[in-house]
Amino acid sequence: MTASAAGVVGWTGADQAELDVLVWELVTRVPEHRRDCDLCARERAEGWPCARVTEAIEAVLAWRVRRALLSRAERLREEQADHETFTRVPRFSRGPVEPFVGSEPGAA
Ligand SMILES: [Zn+2]
Repeated sequence: MTASAAGVVGWTGADQAELDVLVWELVTRVPEHRRDCDLCARERAEGWPCARVTEAIEAVLAWRVRRALLSRAERLREEQADHETFTRVPRFSRGPVEPFVGSEPGAA
């Protein structure tokens, strides 16, 4: 198992692409919001966004944590399923193999 470039085990290209969309939405929408928001205008002198902007940023950060945990769990589940499939093959025969008598299904 390897960690992705993001440093999260199981983090996929699809996860990163979704995060890219969310971050892009934040960086393009927040300035639009702040331009029109009375609360942001009052806070602008200090550089702080209003609660709505803070909530949007926190939602993206929370999404990233949940997605990383879920992708890690999915990766581990896939590895477990692969391991169980591999180890399910019987190691020993229970007796002599009976010769096949008859015809293949569908054969005339
Ligand atoms: Zn605002």
